[in-house]
Amino acid sequence: MGLASSLHLFFFLFSISISRAPFGNSWGKEGHIMVCKIAESYLTEKTRKAVAELLPETAGGDFPSVCPWADEVRFRYHWSSPLHYINTPGVCNYKYSRDCHNSKGVMGMCVVGAINNYTGQLLDCGDLSNQYNLTESLMFLVHFVGDVHQPLHVGFEADEGGNTIIVRWYRRKTNLHHVWDVSMIETAMKYFYNDNLDTMVKGIQLNITGGWSDEINSWENCQNKRATCANDYAVESMHLACNYAYKDVEQGSTLEDEYFLTRLPILKKRIAQAGVRLALILNRIFDSSNGQEIQSL
Ligand SMILES: [Zn+2]
Repeated sequence: MGLASSLHLFFFLFSISISRAPFGNSWGKEGHIMVCKIAESYLTEKTRKAVAELLPETAGGDFPSVCPWADEVRFRYHWSSPLHYINTPGVCNYKYSRDCHNSKGVMGMCVVGAINNYTGQLLDCGDLSNQYNLTESLMFLVHFVGDVHQPLHVGFEADEGGNTIIVRWYRRKTNLHHVWDVSMIETAMKYFYNDNLDTMVKGIQLNITGGWSDEINSWENCQNKRATCANDYAVESMHLACNYAYKDVEQGSTLEDEYFLTRLPILKKRIAQAGVRLALILNRIFDSSNGQEIQSL
């Protein structure tokens, strides 16, 4: 039996077992936690302390545990819902001036605007007149740096970043956005990483120090040296959405081994980039002695 057909059999059996699993245990959290676990390993001591001081008590000092928080409050804080994504008018390019706004046309109300805004609030943290709840600013920032790297968080308005494209992930009915937010990570974890999040994080970290080590400098580079480069990350996501996420997918498509195995390397690299860049942003905010490089790389 070839690799493709044995994978196929595996997923056939696998999807029978998961179709009986209770719905909605910790869906959507894994990607954000992985991004923050990777970022955590690149924080300087000074940054680590500053972050720890801002964490809510409920986090118990565990930084990655707060990274999914923004999804939990997006309906309570209704205004924050558009801050998780960007929609483009059906074109494979993204422009801040055209696309970064909410449905009422308020500029800056998108994931790029949010990253820059919360970075600015945290940079002013020494200012006594700072009125912001900096714990929330931090929790928003660390979440949105993850979101802007998910290719379908910069997608087409007409299909809401793949949310209205109904597909089958192996035998399970879902939508394309959810495949990238959750299903691919879950399937990868179950199939390649012993169903263990830390094992997957270690696998991604091995790629960062191994196969991707030549690329790290380019991940850290961007035109805007002063604040964040979130705009560049959104441009990358839009291209990846067109070239990988949307590619060869139609309403009602069944996505299986071929889609999974060709897109998984992209997804893993986006998680790695998000982690490395989040550390860079946090080190710039909280540890000015750190310059612009991530010291441990
Ligand atoms: Zn989100």
